Amino acid sequence: MKQRGFRYCSTCQTKLQKWSKTAAGTPRWRCPKYAKTQTRKRTDLTKGLLLEQFVNWLLGKQSQEELTGSANAARSWRNQVAWCWDIIPKPELTGEIYPIILIDGLRVGSLVNLIARRLRM
Ligand SMILES: [Zn+2]
Repeated sequence: MKQRGFRYCSTCQTKLQKWSKTAAGTPRWRCPKYAKTQTRKRTDLTKGLLLEQFVNWLLGKQSQEELTGSANAARSWRNQVAWCWDIIPKPELTGEIYPIILIDGLRVGSLVNLIARRLRM
């Protein structure tokens, strides 16, 4: 069974041994069964950081060019975070009940974004 904190071979699922580092400093892992080494990129970390950056940009005041430093970098950043637009946010159920709520609609392309707010009393 897989344990947290260990790396496993993508081919045979054997526990990998840490095997020095590459010239770039990325840890190298060795499969003891096939004596092959491999390096892995933590795509989950990269994706997490990109999502955080995307949300900060989306809710912030910085332009993409200010965020990345140049128009070219902004273009590649847009490609890197394109998948973020496909995430459907799941609002948390709070269980709060109000006697009156105001609902407003905002047309975005072919979709409508509904904004609800409660009255302050
Ligand atoms: Zn293996």
